[in-house]
Amino acid sequence: MSFCRGCGHQIHETAQSCPQCGAVNAALATRKSTTEDQGGSLWLPIPSLVCGLVVVVALFDPDDWDMDQVIGAIGFAVAAIVLGGISLAKQKRGSGMAIAGLILGILGLLGALGSQL
Ligand SMILES: [Zn+2]
Repeated sequence: MSFCRGCGHQIHETAQSCPQCGAVNAALATRKSTTEDQGGSLWLPIPSLVCGLVVVVALFDPDDWDMDQVIGAIGFAVAAIVLGGISLAKQKRGSGMAIAGLILGILGLLGALGSQL
């Protein structure tokens, strides 16, 4: 819950305006403009890139992989793809990192699967 700046009436934080006096919900307006200014946060593209890098680096491990390693690599690869995909779909910020994470994730996934064939 948040409070109306106009009359002090308690209003739901997702409400556009105060039902009591009609003033615009300041909490919502502030939050909206903050995310618009920044164009999104970097908590999606950075982990995507990191997960993608982890998988690709693991692919250069010369030893034969056991099943745990393959499953772990696939997990990181899928995380990189999902996080990168969501980031690209939702925001412009960090799109370069998101694309890199996505590509590394796909490469890692193919490499991990390929190592078992
Ligand atoms: Zn009000």
